[in-house]
This record gives sequence, structure tokens and C-alpha cells, in this order.
Amino acid sequence: WRALVGDETLVPTHCCFCGVQCGMYLRVREGKVFGVEPRNHDINRMRLCPKGLNAYQQVNHPDRLTAPLLRRSRTDDLRPASWEQVLDVTATEIQRIQAEHGRDAFGLLGGASLFSEKTYLVGKLARVALKTRHVDYNGRLCMVSAAGANKLSFGIDRAGNPFSDILLTDCLLIAGSNVGECFPVMTQYLWGARDRGAKLIVVDPRETSIARTADVHVALRSGTDSAFFNAVLHVVIRDGLADLDFIAAHTTGWAEVAQTVAAYPPARAAEICGIPAEQVEQVARIFATARNVMAWHARGIEHHTQGVENCLSVINLCVATGNIGKPGAGYGTITGQGNGQGGREHGQKSDMLPGGRSINDPAHRAQIAAIWGIDEAELPQAGTSMMEMVHQMSAGEIRGLVGICNNPFVSLPNHAVVKAGYDALEFHAQADFFLSETAANAHVVFPITTWAEDDGVMANAEARVVRHRKAQEPPPGVRTDTWVMCELAKRLGVGDKFAFTSSADVFEELRIASRGTVNDYFGITYDRLDETGGIAWPCPSTDHPGTPRLFEGGRTYHADGKVHLQTVEWHPPADPYDDDFAMTLTTGRTVAHFLSGNQTRRLGGLVEQTPRPWVEVHPSHGFTSGDPVRVVTRRGSAVFPALVTEAIRADTVFVPYHWPFPVAANVLTIDALDPRSKIPEYKVCACRLERAEHV
Ligand code: SF4
Repeated sequence: WRALVGDETLVPTHCCFCGVQCGMYLRVREGKVFGVEPRNHDINRMRLCPKGLNAYQQVNHPDRLTAPLLRRSRTDDLRPASWEQVLDVTATEIQRIQAEHGRDAFGLLGGASLFSEKTYLVGKLARVALKTRHVDYNGRLCMVSAAGANKLSFGIDRAGNPFSDILLTDCLLIAGSNVGECFPVMTQYLWGARDRGAKLIVVDPRETSIARTADVHVALRSGTDSAFFNAVLHVVIRDGLADLDFIAAHTTGWAEVAQTVAAYPPARAAEICGIPAEQVEQVARIFATARNVMAWHARGIEHHTQGVENCLSVINLCVATGNIGKPGAGYGTITGQGNGQGGREHGQKSDMLPGGRSINDPAHRAQIAAIWGIDEAELPQAGTSMMEMVHQMSAGEIRGLVGICNNPFVSLPNHAVVKAGYDALEFHAQADFFLSETAANAHVVFPITTWAEDDGVMANAEARVVRHRKAQEPPPGVRTDTWVMCELAKRLGVGDKFAFTSSADVFEELRIASRGTVNDYFGITYDRLDETGGIAWPCPSTDHPGTPRLFEGGRTYHADGKVHLQTVEWHPPADPYDDDFAMTLTTGRTVAHFLSGNQTRRLGGLVEQTPRPWVEVHPSHGFTSGDPVRVVTRRGSAVFPALVTEAIRADTVFVPYHWPFPVAANVLTIDALDPRSKIPEYKVCACRLERAEHV
């Protein structure tokens, strides 16, 4: 699997960034990664986007953290320290805080860019070593709304189809996903479908690059998605276009759904969404008369206080027209982070145990307790979500924290609240390979490996498990996060349960821990991944080919095998509009940067392409591109240069979120959460614009 070319080695692996998980070769000479080449993997067929092409530059970047850092007092600076010192201090502080304030006074926050082996260890460390209920991860900011909807409707938490099914569809619905910038290589599938004549419907408040090419672009006001999809289903039923045979054979809850959407005629949706009523009719007609339809969505409809409902409203439409479980017909969500899918499967989510098990289910608890060699009663109960944990820090309920591979100072909403929460901590350790804004505020910093310095697996947006390979040794002074977690466990008295020396060791336990669940990885081995290029779970045995397409024959993973349709009622966003705050602020990504920007704001080519944030604003507001514009919300204000464009609604502005305070979009956003998924409402808050003096 390693190719030698002259004095170079080409190490086949995958991109560290988004959930497409493009295959790439890392170029290695004299033991150092120095470049990248696209790889003819069937996910990406030799294509890489700007982020993928620049990803290798992180590995030997001069900003890499190469020594542990320790702040000896609250007013002291972070200074280099030994590994013994930082691990001892961290273990001592965990023990002190838990002895004084109870086990749940210390929390752990993981990440969805970590390999699955490490996410497994985050959950096990929290439950077995710290015995705290407070563990969660930054995937909570990613696709948990879709996860919640999938579980409710289908009894399984993943996309239903492989990307390649897009090439077989006759109609594509893309809702709330700027595919061209956030998942650029995935556009090859969209264009492939278009070349075959597939219709394209895009639902997005902004005219993104794919929206520009769509047959129908529904530029609805952010926060109104479920009203729109309910109205489309209303028309489908009214015009006799629902697949009643499929519904009768494969669903429950249809009568209630039909009754609910009866209250959403096109005229009502037009008023709520700010679109022509004819667009509802047009979308219903195209969607329901195409032979095969696929719907994919992303954070645009998921980052809402009604994120789960938005996803359910799309599922209802797909199922009502018989569009699941067939080649070219299905439903999926496009994962934001590289391991956004895998990151929530193995136990670092506050309510879950490995194998997608529920921590509230006595049988699931007993199974995992047996694998971990502990008494079931020792397993903590479910904890709270990432943003709720921050609120608990401010309230003094959580007093200590270890964060691994996340950057909440930039990524969480309502920055002032986040900063106050972290500042209230008595102890905070953060693990990362660059000094993120969050790490810079910590008492202890662990310098850890990049994705190119360790082995592991990730599951992409198709739930295809792919193999990442170590391409170089880490710099001296740097350790793997696996080693850090095992050393902490040793100091907390449970080293025997963390006797892992490699990712491969952890993966063997993970396979066993997932065995027999819907989320079954038992049949997946590193060797099989090397041979196949990736296997979609569930994969219950080593001779099982994996399951790229779910719901074949209409059968789901609920005990009765049916789709459990859920009623959806639209409700307004959390931040109310009034005379002072009458416009909508929506936030999102740009092609050159990734999430909190900690990985991309240092990479020359990407910074050159997009050096700073901006505010996208409609010409009707009288600004000229480059004018300094202050965006004001109920949480704060920030000034950005204007990008004046007709590609956005007149009542809406857009700011990308990859930069820190004071130009952080998340200075402005609201920390209201979806009550079911606990995802923050990044995609809509009330704002106003003011002319500023300078940026
Ligand atoms: Fe990496 Fe995603 Fe770009 Fe592919 S599309 S190269 S996985 S960032």
C-alpha cells in the first residue's frame, strides 16, 4: 500500500477535512510529509479541493505545538513543561475537583475530526476513568439534527445511500447545502446526474454556485424550511401524487402527517417563507413525478431550533413519494467534519455508548459494562450537550474540563457566554496540534499528533469506513491523543482498562463493542479496509460486504421494519424580529477554510485565497463592496467589509464563521438549541446593519 517513486514514498490515506473523505496520497521524503497527490479512490476519482490540496502543509508547519504547556498560576503565561508535569497536574486537578464537588464537576469534550478509535477512547475515559456523565463532542454542532431525525424515522443513524446513487437519480433535491464550497468534490456526482438529465432543486436563502445552475432555486427565508416542505407534501397529497401503496406497506403515522400538512397550503408557505406560491407547486410536481429522487441536506436546514423537524419534513416527502431504498432514490445528510458520522457512533456523545447504543437503555448499559469490565451501576447516566456544558461551567456546576481537538472559542455560538464559561473553570486542559484560541486560554496544553502521524479510521457521509495511515513520525515532544488518554487513565487508577499501545489495539475493542448492534463494525478490519478502499456499516462479519444502501425493499431498522413517519409543525426561530432587529443573519462556510479555522487560517494558499471574513449583503441596502458594515444582534456587534451581491435575499445577510473574536460570526449568533438534538441555531438570528467608520 505504500508506493515508492524515486526517493519518495506515496502513502495512501484520506483528507483530514470534510465528510466526503477524498482519497489522497501524502508524499514523504526522508521521513517527512512534504506534499500531496490526488488518488484514484472511487469516492473522489483523482479530485481534491483547495483544502485537500493544502492539508499536508499542517503537518510540518512552524506553528506546530511541540512541547506541553503549563500555566503555573492564573496570571502566568503558558510555558513549556514536561509531559510528566502536565499529566500529573491534570490528573491531580481531576481528582481534587471531583473530590470537592462530585464526579460530574469534571467534563470531557471530544471532536469529530478525531479518528473513531480516539472517539471511542474519549467516551471510555469519561465513563470508566473519570466516571463523569459530562462528555460530549463538537459533532454536536454538526449533524445531530439529522441523526435525531434518522433514528426517529428509520431506526438507524446514517445516510441511506452511497454517493454513487446520485449518478442514477432523475431528480436531486439539495436543501441547505452549499455543496460547491463546503463539499466541493461531491459536486462531481451532481454534475454527473445533471449530464444524464436529472432535474436539480436547490432550497437555500443564498444563490450558491449550485443554486445558480438549478432548475428551481427556492430562496426561502432562513428558518422556514419545514413550512416549505410541509407545503410541498400538501400539494403532493392534494394532487394525488403520493405513493399510497408504498405508504400502506412500509410506514406508520401517515394519517397524522397528512392531517398536519393539510394546514400548509402553498399560500401559507409563501407567506412564511417569503417565496412565490408557484414555487411550491413547481417543486411538488418535479419531485413527485420523477422516477427516482434523492434528497441531500446539510447544516443549512439542520442548524436550527427546529433542526430535527426540518430533517423530518424532508424525510416525510421522500417516503411519501416512495423514494427510499432504491438505486438513485433515497435520503441523506452531508457530514461537515471528516468523522462527523463516525464521531458519534462510538460513545463520545453524551447520551450514547459504543455501537450507537443508548446510555439510558439498561440492556445496552449491561452489554458495554461487561466489555469494559465494570459493574453496570458504575456507568454514569446521560450527560448534557456541548453548549449546555458551557452554561453549566458558568453556573459552577462543571469546574474542570479536558478538551480534545475542538475550538469552542470560535465554533460555539454567543462568544461572550462561551468565554465566561471557560473563564469560570478552575482547571482546563486542551489537546491540539496548533495553539487554538481555546487552547491559548487553557491551564494545560497537550501537543498532539496530526492526522498524518497516526493510524485510524473515519466514517464518511455515506457511512463508509475508510482507513487513514500514518505517513511520518510526529515531531519530538508530540504524542498521540491515544497515548495522552491512556496516561491519564493510568494516573486515575484504571490503566489496566486502557492498555492500548496503538489505534489498531483500540479498533479491535471497538469492533467487539459494536458487535450485534445496528451500528455493527465487527466485520470491518484494517486489512479489509486496505483491500477494499472502505466498507459501509453495518458489517456484522468478516465475510460481509458491508451495506452501502439501506432500506432495500422499503425495510427499515425499526423492530417492525417500517418507516415511522413523524408530524412536523413549523415554528418561528428563537430570536424574534422587531423594529430594531428586522433582518436575518445566517452563517456558514467558505471554500478555503474549515470550521473554526484553526487548521486552515495558517496555510498560505488558503489564507491568500480568503484572508478575512465579510458580510454578504443585497444591493438594496445602499452599500458598496468594501464598505465597513457593522452587524448588530442582541448578543453583540462586529464590523466586516461588505460584499454586495444579488445572490442573497434583501432581508438576509451572511457572514462566514472561521475567524476568531473580534471578527467572529459567533459574537453575533444565538445559543438557543434544538430541544431534541441540542444543535445551536447558527443559521438564523435577528440583526440590523449600520454603516461603520472602518473595518
Ligand atoms: Fe478534503 Fe472534503 Fe475537499 Fe475532499 S471535498 S479534498 S474531503 S475538504
